[in-house]
Order: sequence, then structure tokens, then C-alpha cells
Amino acid sequence: MLNRRKFLGSSLLASTGLFLKTKNEGIKSSLVIDKPIVISTWDFGKAANAAAWEVLSKQGRALDAVEEGVKIPESDPDNHSVGYGGLPDRDGHVTLDACIMDENSNCGSVMCLEYIVHPISVARLVMEKTPHIVLAGDGALQFALANGFKKENLLTAESEKMWKEWLRNSKYEPVINIENKKYNDKSLSPGGPFNHDTIGMLALDNNGNLSGACTTSGMAFKMHGRVGDSPIIGAGLFVDNEIGSATSTGVGEEVIRIVGSHLVVENMRLGLSPRDACRKAVERIVKRDPEKAKNLQVGFLALKKDGSFGAFCIQKGFTYAVRSTHEEKIYESESWFS
Ligand code: ASP
Repeated sequence: MLNRRKFLGSSLLASTGLFLKTKNEGIKSSLVIDKPIVISTWDFGKAANAAAWEVLSKQGRALDAVEEGVKIPESDPDNHSVGYGGLPDRDGHVTLDACIMDENSNCGSVMCLEYIVHPISVARLVMEKTPHIVLAGDGALQFALANGFKKENLLTAESEKMWKEWLRNSKYEPVINIENKKYNDKSLSPGGPFNHDTIGMLALDNNGNLSGACTTSGMAFKMHGRVGDSPIIGAGLFVDNEIGSATSTGVGEEVIRIVGSHLVVENMRLGLSPRDACRKAVERIVKRDPEKAKNLQVGFLALKKDGSFGAFCIQKGFTYAVRSTHEEKIYESESWFS
């Protein structure tokens, strides 16, 4: 008899997301879709996945799962790259970008939204209550307030201190993979380097439907009004329920240029595995400007319709979290440069 535990422990199978379930013990095995499953960017994706799992494990909808999931880092003051406590722009404004997409290609997005702890929920309302897909800036804020969201100061004392230290040099210098470093890490102060890093989350529910969410405070100390890839459907997030879904993190300008998440999904449509689809998108960025790529981080994460998943990034250090019926784990993505 198949030792299921041992079998599922195999990292190869885990990373493909596929596993065999013995339906009639000892008689026949058949390949089944691994669902539900949720995956998300970075180590902080683990806590977010746990919230998403609450929904998925009760036969809930992937759309509800990704919204609930990413709300965890959005309201975490210690996470300086998403939502409340996110690092501000160079003028001291915390401006948030978020988007969400469901299994029917419905999507909603907010860009450069201030004062609202959960931009992902505003993005969902844009999707569900308006004839539009994107609301930006003050219009997004007015829409949120009209729908009962509370106006709150998102700049925590710690983020304000980091911003003031940065102002001493005012040097815009994104640093690769700094998400895991704590504020008291000496390399972060005074005056930078500074952090970024987005939560992008992809889920496949029990009904076999995919959804995704992506939310961020964007690049720290960016120009006021700057919008990255994260709230742009096709760049920071894309879901095609026939094929799969993808999301990105890293320097958004480079992802927008190649419409990265859409490219990853299209690569899967052509038959590539999630990991190879992500690698192909990374290759596009690296080959465009190999010199620039040496000091650049972009990571892609993909979840296919069959529950298989994978990632690829430019620089070593991009991690992602997976929660499924048989694992709760953080993986390190393969990278272009070692
Ligand atoms: N992609 C985000 C942005 O460019 C930042 C990140 O994920 O690191 O705003």
C-alpha cells in the first residue's frame, strides 16, 4: 500500500502540487487535482495563508479566501511593505495599491489609496459595486468612505521614524529581499536602505475555481503618486480560470514593462509548468537589460488550474508560502542568479 505520508513528504511532488490519492485501496490509483490550496509571496504569506485556509477548508470561495488572507499583512503594523505600517512615499504619505480578480475575470483595483487599512476590500467593492475596474487617489478614498470604511492614520511611529532617517540622505535605493529584516537591523538605519515587498496570493477552491489578490504599500519613499505593478491587472496579478493564475513582487516598473503576471499565465497556456512559466517571464526581464538585472529583484509565483504551483525570481532570496490539504510550508524560489 502506498505510504501516503511519506509520499506527500516528497519535495518533488510537493512542489508540483500534484499527488496521488488511492481511491480504492490497493486496486487503482488516479491522479486528482490538489485542492483546495493557497499560495502567497514571502514568509509573511504563511500567516496570510492561515486566514485564507479558514475559508478554503470550509468549502469557501477562493475569492473570499484571498481577501481574508491578504488582510492579515494589511493590518500588521510590523509589516512595513503592506497596508497599515507600510513605509510612506518621500513626502510622508502612505499610499496603497491593491487588486483582486475572480474566476470569471471580474476584477477590481485601487491605486494610490490613502488612510484605509484594507485596500483589498475596497478593490473588491470596486469590482462588485461599480461599472469600473480601477479607482485611484482621492476618488478611491471617497468611494471607500461612502461605503463605510474608516479613515485612519496609516503612518505608525516606527515607519515615520524610518522615513525621517531616510530624509537625511533622501537616496532612492531599493534593496533586494529586505522584507525579512527587522527595523532594528543596522543595515536599515539610519537613512536606508529601505524595504519593499508585496503580498500576492493565489487560491484554488474546492469547486476548482481560482482567484487572486495583491496588495502593497509599494516601493518605500517613492515619488508621490507613483503606482507600481501590484494594482495593475495583468502586471501584479492575473487569473484565467481555464489555465491558472500568477502574481509578482519586486521592482514593479520592470514587471509592468512585460505585463508579467499575464505573461506567466500565457506561458502556462502554452504548456509550461508554473515554475517554467515564471522562469520565462524572469528571462524576459533579465535579457532586456542584463546589467540592470544584476541589482534588481523580481519574483513571480504561479498556481495552475490543476493545483500545481511554482515560482522563479531574479535574485536568490524570494520565498513563498504554501498551504494545502497536505502541507504548510515556506519554499525558497529558484533564481536566475545564484
Ligand atoms: N511590486 C511592488 C511595487 O513595485 C513592490 C514589491 O513587491 O516589492 O510597488
